[in-house]
Amino acid sequence: MIHNFNYHRATTAQEAFSLLEKFKEDYKVICGGQSLLILMRQGLVAPENLIDIKGIKEMSYINYDPKEGLKIGSTTTHREIEKSPQINKYYPVLTEMEENLASVQTRNWGTIGGNLAHGDPSSDPAPILIAMNATVKLASKEKERSLPLEDFFIDIFETALGEDELLTEIQVPILPKNSAVAYEKFNIIKNYQGIVSVAVSITMDKDGAGCKDARIVLGAAAATPLRAKEAEKILSGKKIDTKLLTKVGDKASEECDPVSDIHATETYRRALIKALTIKITNTAWEQAKATG
Ligand SMILES: Cc1cc2nc3c(=O)[nH]c(=O)nc-3n(C[C@H](O)[C@H](O)[C@H](O)COP(=O)(O)OP(=O)(O)OC[C@H]3O[C@@H](n4cnc5c(N)ncnc54)[C@H](O)[C@@H]3O)c2cc1C
Repeated sequence: MIHNFNYHRATTAQEAFSLLEKFKEDYKVICGGQSLLILMRQGLVAPENLIDIKGIKEMSYINYDPKEGLKIGSTTTHREIEKSPQINKYYPVLTEMEENLASVQTRNWGTIGGNLAHGDPSSDPAPILIAMNATVKLASKEKERSLPLEDFFIDIFETALGEDELLTEIQVPILPKNSAVAYEKFNIIKNYQGIVSVAVSITMDKDGAGCKDARIVLGAAAATPLRAKEAEKILSGKKIDTKLLTKVGDKASEECDPVSDIHATETYRRALIKALTIKITNTAWEQAKATG
């Protein structure tokens, strides 16, 4: 049963910031409610005040600029991202990810900001956005700050958001030349959170012969989305072959820190991380080569 609460609806960011300040002691922000309402119904969260930001139009947008890259307002829904022609053109991996995230109903109402602010290690957008070196903008009444998305996640369901802050924008830089990003989640229930997931971005060197830069990000493989930095180092300056891919997969499965739960054991998750890292690194490599 959901406990009683006072409902406050903000229609502008400034209105929301004032409400956050006013109810500092006991509030929860609600946007699409797709994650929060589950916790409230289970009695795990029982805020005195609910501050609804879904109606803040100024925080719902998708802007692409060939120099600055992509900016997504935090109250933008999954469905809007999925259907954006610009995202499909310049960041097709995001379109594909959204098509496989939850049901249409959830995508119609759930937002990208809510997904990230929830801090679920099995989030689909998080590993891809980290692989693309995304940053997030956090704002309060008095100040605004940006931080790399990979530093936003602190622990399971815990983020760097201060108690008077909203996540307002997600910024994705232009992908470097000769690069590609690939993503896959392994799940048992279609369009549900993955048992594990892997996102890989690869940038080829000038001659298109070797790997100049790689980012490997693992989902549901630790308390937060995790960069497999040692595995990334193995790729640096190298040309990919089966032996190298196996080393990268082995290292990623060593670096992760998965739990055993009702969905999978730790051992199984490590094996999945190895297999998916090999597969997705190869996919990103082939796609990056094809851009040259
Ligand atoms: C059936 C189902 C299937 C799902 N499948 C998937 C899946 O396959 N992959 C996946 O990644 N996700 C999945 N999800 C999760 C879904 O993506 C998220 O529930 C949704 O994106 C959350 O957005 P929301 O706007 O509904 O957030 P809310 O539920 O309103 O809020 C979630 C949390 O974020 C905080 N918050 C929200 N917006 C902001 C903001 N702008 N600034 C600061 N804090 C904020 C809230 O206080 C709350 O703590 C699924 C959810 C359901 C119900």
